Amino acid sequence: MSYRPDRELPPTAGLPLALADLRARPRQRLTDAAAAFINVPATQLECSGTASLIVALLALKELAPDRHEVVIPAYTCPLVPMAVQRAGLTSRLCDMATGRLDMDAQKLQSACSASTLAIIPTHLGGRVADVATAQAIARAEGAFVIEDAAQAFGARVNGQSVGTIGDIGFFSLAAGKGLSIYEGGLLVSRDDALRSQLVRASEAHVPRNRLWEMRRSMELAGYAALYGPRGLRWAYGDPLRRALRRGNLVAAASEDFGPTIPLHRVGAWRERVGASAITRLPAFVEHTTQQALRRLPRLQAIEGVHVYADHEGEQGTWPYFLVRLPDEATRDEALSRLWHAGLGVGRLFIHALPDYSYLDPMEGSDDVSVARHIAACTLTISNSPWIDDGTFEHVCAVIEALVVRRRAA
Ligand SMILES: *Cc1c(COP(=O)(O)O)cnc(C)c1O
Repeated sequence: MSYRPDRELPPTAGLPLALADLRARPRQRLTDAAAAFINVPATQLECSGTASLIVALLALKELAPDRHEVVIPAYTCPLVPMAVQRAGLTSRLCDMATGRLDMDAQKLQSACSASTLAIIPTHLGGRVADVATAQAIARAEGAFVIEDAAQAFGARVNGQSVGTIGDIGFFSLAAGKGLSIYEGGLLVSRDDALRSQLVRASEAHVPRNRLWEMRRSMELAGYAALYGPRGLRWAYGDPLRRALRRGNLVAAASEDFGPTIPLHRVGAWRERVGASAITRLPAFVEHTTQQALRRLPRLQAIEGVHVYADHEGEQGTWPYFLVRLPDEATRDEALSRLWHAGLGVGRLFIHALPDYSYLDPMEGSDDVSVARHIAACTLTISNSPWIDDGTFEHVCAVIEALVVRRRAA
């Protein structure tokens, strides 16, 4: 017999869609409303965060055709090196700093050369990455900075939106990543010339594809109907538990990406759904931020537990708490109690990038020990509004008991 909880709490704080979004005739376009939300002149809609990155890389490649390397964090979404490859470029991994979710500055410096086209500082889990350091290093080498803000739509640093600090930035509108049209992405740039270059690259490389758009439209309707503690049991929890029983962690974390990355235009209906939903996003970000800041001290009070949080001047978003436990055994023990239980506990990326069997070998793979440590010792606790105080306290108590037991051993 297999365990099945009666509620499945979402692993991240996604903005729930309303039925009304599906038939709305919003006054503003999604791209304009998004631009207003993050205070930029314009945003460009693509069919995924990955597609946005591919378009950005193709645009930059045209500006600097002799540069072919892209420096990326050794701990990030596996779709990132897949996008680099799809753009005909090479990934070079840079190990992470200790303590922050940034690439190590010294290693970043040595990873960059006259072959570097772009550096991709990444705002993981709503945390604000150190773009300034990446930018200083990029400038000195004549390279560009693309901010991966896939998980950080709404995060700000001293009031300025992430994604707008470097040369180009992108956000993901995938299922579960805050605002969602099931799959989508937004590209931004402060620079007028780069913005035209992004539009040109998209026109040249991104075709219409009715079949893909039809598929995504049905998926979006399903997402709108099932995104909630009842529907997710079926749409998310059951497949998760099956993957865990098989011991397939990559599938459990939904990282079993196939080799094809669809590139197509987003249709008018999905854009309208997003334009309708985005009107609720500012209040949702505010609400989930307040909830996170209220709950953060409880987690931080557990000795031996590190929670990645904001530093001076940063106003990150909170899709989930990324929590580092003292060692892999304690983390695994916590997950064995919590991951299958419908409580919104899970993992961010399962591996450091060199350890995904489906990715091709990458430069820099020999020096990724901090990335591996992050993959080994972290778990995520959802910050969805559906996680009530009692559930959050239960999760904290389970983790606390394990950490205390380890200290006593
Ligand atoms: C999800 C994600 C992406 C890719 O975005 P999609 O919209 O899923 O294609 C890129 N980078 C990071 C850090 C992500 O989390």
